Amino acid sequence: MSPPSATTETAPPANPPSKQDPSKIPAWVQPDLTRLLRVNHVPGSYTSYATSLVALPAGAVFARITSPTPASPAYSTVQASRDLHIELNSDLLYINHSCRPSLVFDMEKWEVRVSEDLEGGLKVGDLLTFFYPSTEWAMAQKFECTCEEKTCLGWIGGAKEMDGAVLKGYRLNSHIEALLREEGKW
Ligand SMILES: [Zn+2]
Repeated sequence: MSPPSATTETAPPANPPSKQDPSKIPAWVQPDLTRLLRVNHVPGSYTSYATSLVALPAGAVFARITSPTPASPAYSTVQASRDLHIELNSDLLYINHSCRPSLVFDMEKWEVRVSEDLEGGLKVGDLLTFFYPSTEWAMAQKFECTCEEKTCLGWIGGAKEMDGAVLKGYRLNSHIEALLREEGKW
């Protein structure tokens, strides 16, 4: 059988260049951090912070981690597994610690999601934070937290330095949970 003869008519392109507004595609589908977060630069070390440009329900994907490179542990790295630390190489770096975080870093899925516990979801202008011990087992620089939450834990170190019972109240990455069990903290 021969294929149906081609017509000389040209079909209109399936996706003609249109006047549709590309910003109608949600920013988290093709993670465009410039549309997801705003970095508020503050002079001085470690004080810059990020706020949300989008509203999302609790549990929704906020961003994906798309440009990581392996690195030695440092203040700027995130622990992705038992023996992998990464630099984010993006403005996700400015997502600071909070004891009541708005986001979670899921290092198995390489995505950043709105915390399931965030009542009412993420709103525009919200501070973007995650709970550092949820990814970090040990931390070179422990610090006094200034999140000002009622539930602030004070000194923050890696999970191995924190109270195991307190950590139960947080969504932790699987490498942290495994290490807590191995070290008898759980
Ligand atoms: Zn705190």
